[in-house]
Amino acid sequence: MKRLGVLTVISGFSGVGKGTIVKKLVAEQDYALSISATSRLPREGEVHGREYFFLTRDEFHSMIESNGLIEWAEYVNNFYGTPKSYVEERLANGQDVILEIEPQGALKVKEQYPEAVLIFVVPPTAGELENRLVGRGTEEAGVIAKRLKRAAEETEYIANYEYIVVNDDLNDAVNDIHYIIQAASHKRERTEEFLNVLKDDLKKSFNE
Ligand code: 5GP
Repeated sequence: MKRLGVLTVISGFSGVGKGTIVKKLVAEQDYALSISATSRLPREGEVHGREYFFLTRDEFHSMIESNGLIEWAEYVNNFYGTPKSYVEERLANGQDVILEIEPQGALKVKEQYPEAVLIFVVPPTAGELENRLVGRGTEEAGVIAKRLKRAAEETEYIANYEYIVVNDDLNDAVNDIHYIIQAASHKRERTEEFLNVLKDDLKKSFNE
């Protein structure tokens, strides 16, 4: 059945495991993951063009000025943004696209794409969030403290999301998100073109 692609926005507190969830999701299912631009430095093991397009602040600002980003936001002293062309080309081809972005960006996406599906991933407890962030060992103590403070602030944004997924068990969280996207893909609005052809056919065949 021909239909429009679903644009899904996944957000969640730093350390909640959304990166791991999204990686598993795109490895197992046919979703296109948008790669963001950022002015943050790569973490060990991160590759330009795979996790992010790592840009200088000047390069990032040029992208904003040339209207190359759907949205952008500042997060803990760095800039992050979603390149426009990748997302629009894939949606137009009927591919489902996933954005993994923070809540201010998610709101801007929803303004531009009202049919976008917004999912917020939460930890089972606050203590578990801290354990995971400390445990992954990719940030120093000062940055971890800032990210935890930001998490407490981000709770205000949860009301903008339609779906909440608890990341207690990784497989369950991945499946939950997959089912949410699958349900959204069956919404009538996305199948309008297919339905119109079918309706015309039915009328022509049986009603005239
Ligand atoms: P990290 O530095 O941990 O990779 O990402 C920090 C935050 O930036 C995360 O909440 C992540 O979801 C968010 N982020 C990543 N890419 C984008 C983007 O393109 N736009 C926005 N608004 N946030 C992003």
